[in-house]
Amino acid sequence: MPEESEEIRRELLDMVQSLRSHIEQDIERGRSLSYLHLEGSLTPHFSAGKPGAAGGEHLSVNRRLQQNGFHAMEKVQHELGDCQRCSLSQGRTNIVFGEGNPDANLVFVGEAPGADEDAQGRPFVGRAGQLLTRIIAAMGLSRKDVYICNILKCRPPGNRNPKPDEIHACEPFLIKQIRAIQPEVICALGTFAAQTLLKKEAPITALRGRFHSYQGIKVMPTYHPAYLLRNAGA
Ligand code: SF4
Repeated sequence: MPEESEEIRRELLDMVQSLRSHIEQDIERGRSLSYLHLEGSLTPHFSAGKPGAAGGEHLSVNRRLQQNGFHAMEKVQHELGDCQRCSLSQGRTNIVFGEGNPDANLVFVGEAPGADEDAQGRPFVGRAGQLLTRIIAAMGLSRKDVYICNILKCRPPGNRNPKPDEIHACEPFLIKQIRAIQPEVICALGTFAAQTLLKKEAPITALRGRFHSYQGIKVMPTYHPAYLLRNAGA
């Protein structure tokens, strides 16, 4: 078990480093850093961007982009509505649509809501969510800088694995969310998120730790935070 914990620790550090490097490259190349310039969320690590990057004109462009992302996401949520497209609608308390910056460069995609998420209607708010929040903080970001959602928007009973017909019914809305956001990096949390996005059957152990591609967007698969919590020392 200590070896496994060490492996997971390295995995987490690798992931944080890879994503952090990506953000730093954005700064070096003068790309849009709208996710770092939201009101109240300017992050000290990245505040020293390229000269002019934080100028008034740049900020107003970022705000327009953010508004576009917000409206696009509103449309997706409106289309989802009080969804009854699969049987998971029968047992849910709340639809967990997703939350965060609709113009984020970084999107986290998990598997499905758990009990806490179902109760609150928000993604990743239980123990695994608290760990994810710490991972995001380790990147020098906050939850409102990124976007967080799941493959399924409703909780499977007893937190069982998603079924193919449920993924089939719900995935179009994830695709629309990602199209609305147009992120540069997606972090796929766990086997189902990685396999669904990448259309591969390989386990997370084979997919994790390197970038893949999803419709031109970089995808970094990694362990689900719940898995990390189940392993002592992780
Ligand atoms: S899981 Fe998705 S498709 Fe199924 S009812 Fe919930 S929102 Fe609709």
